[in-house]
Amino acid sequence: MPSILENVSQIKQTIAARAKSAGRNPSDVELLIVTKRQELANILPLLENGERIFGENRVQEASAKWTTLKKDFPEIELHLIGHLQSNKVKEAITLFNVIQSLDSLKLADKLCREEKRQGKRLQYYVEINMANEPQKSGIALQEAQTFLNNLRENYDLQVVGLMCIPLQKVDPTSYFKNLTALATENELPKISMGMSSDYEIAIDCGATVVRIGQAIFRT
Ligand SMILES: *Cc1c(COP(=O)(O)O)cnc(C)c1O
Repeated sequence: MPSILENVSQIKQTIAARAKSAGRNPSDVELLIVTKRQELANILPLLENGERIFGENRVQEASAKWTTLKKDFPEIELHLIGHLQSNKVKEAITLFNVIQSLDSLKLADKLCREEKRQGKRLQYYVEINMANEPQKSGIALQEAQTFLNNLRENYDLQVVGLMCIPLQKVDPTSYFKNLTALATENELPKISMGMSSDYEIAIDCGATVVRIGQAIFRT
């Protein structure tokens, strides 16, 4: 059975090969290791192996695991990939380097204020709800351009990219292509899309960050 480190190595090879075959530079696609629900015993070998880019979907769980680890490994780049509630903004700004789930102007306002209070600058991705699914967070694709304009004009946040979580069991190709088109139109360099089951397609469609959990921790 493969170990976690073997899985990471294999996935990195797949990412590089897929980028190449899509005519892209392999170094333009980053692997974000999703450690939600993983214990420290599964995370430490990755840190010792030099991995530095990680994602968590809940602030509290992330805080419990990563506050100390970030002291030991200051170069860690920790991404929040799940919905951020207003009452967790303070803790999120303290802990994370990147928030991929910016999905309302109310949240943008809170983040601006808290950044000033803590004297910090994070990077942000706007989460887009590609298929306008009511149960999902994210800005509806139809409203995304207005939202991005508003954010640019009225909020002092470093918005660097877009993120999406497409429908399951549906070919994600058109969603991925639409997200890339929207990022390109807005000159946003980062595109976070693709998970264990569809990251190769996401790379074909322009992903610069793939978020992978299961395929790494399944041993
Ligand atoms: C859990 C999660 C992932 C990783 O999904 P896997 O199928 O485990 O690779 C990616 N993105 C988000 C937002 C997640 O919550």
